[in-house]
Amino acid sequence: MTGALLLMIGALVLSRKLSDMVSGTAIMSDHTVDVVIDAGHGGSDPGKVGINEVKEKDLNLAIAARVEALLEKRNISCKMTRTGDEGVSGDGEQSKIADMKARVQMINDLKPKLAVSIHQNSYPQEEVKGAQVFYFKHSKGGEAAALLMQTALKTLDESNHREAKANDTYYLLKKTEPPTIIVECGFLTNPEEAEKLAGEEYQNQVAEAIVSGIEVCLGKEEKKN
Ligand SMILES: [Zn+2]
Repeated sequence: MTGALLLMIGALVLSRKLSDMVSGTAIMSDHTVDVVIDAGHGGSDPGKVGINEVKEKDLNLAIAARVEALLEKRNISCKMTRTGDEGVSGDGEQSKIADMKARVQMINDLKPKLAVSIHQNSYPQEEVKGAQVFYFKHSKGGEAAALLMQTALKTLDESNHREAKANDTYYLLKKTEPPTIIVECGFLTNPEEAEKLAGEEYQNQVAEAIVSGIEVCLGKEEKKN
């Protein structure tokens, strides 16, 4: 009896190991990196300009760079679409469409488990504020990631009742194959939020929240290896 039981357990362990190996190989070949971080705008495209004159492109890059550093510490592999104040298409004559296409191409080539595009929002009414996540309406993976990320961002402000929102027109969301979300960290038209976003302390807090959202999306807690 005991021998048969041991054999059964042995077979079970072996089959588990095999399936781990197979799925491990599949993951290796499918994804070259865990995450792509896209700092929106850059170069001749400033994005939104805040009530305090701060440019969206600069905030996006500052937060993206912090996210990258934190991911590295947690052993989550990451690629940035840009690391300096420039458009992504790289040619001198920067056009918005070439820039967007280059970002999409990069994400589709790298095949990350998740792509996170970092932006700042604006609205005609000053009082509107709060971080919000967008996903492509027809992407189940994007939707799931957006819901998890929105929850993670709530730690920045418990009074933020914004919910992850579906979208079917944003070029980046429509054209990327891996699950992609846009994180609008805050409103540059809200004086208080614009001021906070311009400061390093809050940029760090936003980056921490985004990284904890990414960890949940990647199921880091379950892996434990
Ligand atoms: Zn933007």
